[in-house]
Amino acid sequence: MHDGSSPTVPAWQRAAYVTRPQELLAQLQLDPALPGLELARCRDFPLRVPQGFVARMRKGDPQDPLFLQVWPGAAESVERPGFAPDAVGDLAALRPGGVVHKYQGRVLLLATGACAVHCRYCFRRHFPYAEALAARNHWQEALAQIAADPSVSEVILSGGDPLSLSDERLAGLTRGLAGLPQVRRLRLHTRTAVVLPERVDAGFLAWLAGVRLPVTVVLHVNHPNELDGAAAGAIARLRGAGATLLAQSVLLKGVNDTTDVLEALSERLFACGVLPYYLHLLDRVRGAGHFEVSQSAAIQLMQDLSSRLPGYLVPRLAREVPGAPGKQLLSW
Ligand SMILES: *Cc1c(COP(=O)(O)O)cnc(C)c1O
Ligand code: SF4
Repeated sequence: MHDGSSPTVPAWQRAAYVTRPQELLAQLQLDPALPGLELARCRDFPLRVPQGFVARMRKGDPQDPLFLQVWPGAAESVERPGFAPDAVGDLAALRPGGVVHKYQGRVLLLATGACAVHCRYCFRRHFPYAEALAARNHWQEALAQIAADPSVSEVILSGGDPLSLSDERLAGLTRGLAGLPQVRRLRLHTRTAVVLPERVDAGFLAWLAGVRLPVTVVLHVNHPNELDGAAAGAIARLRGAGATLLAQSVLLKGVNDTTDVLEALSERLFACGVLPYYLHLLDRVRGAGHFEVSQSAAIQLMQDLSSRLPGYLVPRLAREVPGAPGKQLLSW
């Protein structure tokens, strides 16, 4: 990640990660012989979790909702019909330069393939980033494409996670974007701000405050336990820099598929100054079938949730339909 141009390496680039499954189990005082802890056969999407996120997991609990999101267990090796490598049709929508143009008026820029955490249910876990983002000048190409399209009013930096990029690279990218008259909004989709809050440091905040476009940050958060004091601090800093803050979550079996957890998540987000935006049904990506919650169960949860919360704390239930021009919103 270190691009060599900065005189000192920022602290977040020196953050510790757990990447060895046995080490994660040892830290959590989990016996590897416990049922459910056998490892998946396939290792092409290895364990990766920031040390600070491990600290938010309960010790001795193999059902901890944060642990379940990162553990590469044997359930991933079970082949299930309908679960495919490219679940949402991104490959069909991908243009040279890492631009995904699926949504009218908005383009998604795959700024990087890197993430601070590897989420087991990730719909991009099989995405060929290396090929899509191979060209060194892919940003120039992306910028040229966006410049040539007057319909693009919003650019969404996604990935991977755009906060994996150095401040200098973010600045280079947004300088080009801010010069395009049709681009009126910038959005960042990030999980890093939650799992590695030290990424939201003075350098990043200086970049954010200097972007000449209104910035919306959509945080990926699935469970209230993810929002400890450090994460809340990062969120407060983002708010202080003037960003509009929203949250998106993925509905995950065993993690957040109860009304109590979803209610607590909305309440915790609000307490941190974030409004819930989307609750996504799982994308049917190979290796993630054990997280699936049925559409009818999801709708029941939403009915219960909306009876308990004001409307602005109830996220929109959405699902991705491959090939469709946007996501599908489900009503309940
Ligand atoms: C839905 C979605 C978008 C577009 O978001 P809107 O808020 O509907 O404009 C972009 N990227 C991803 C990954 C999405 O799921
Ligand atoms: S942070 Fe987002 S893109 Fe990265 S692995 Fe998790 S879900 Fe996927």
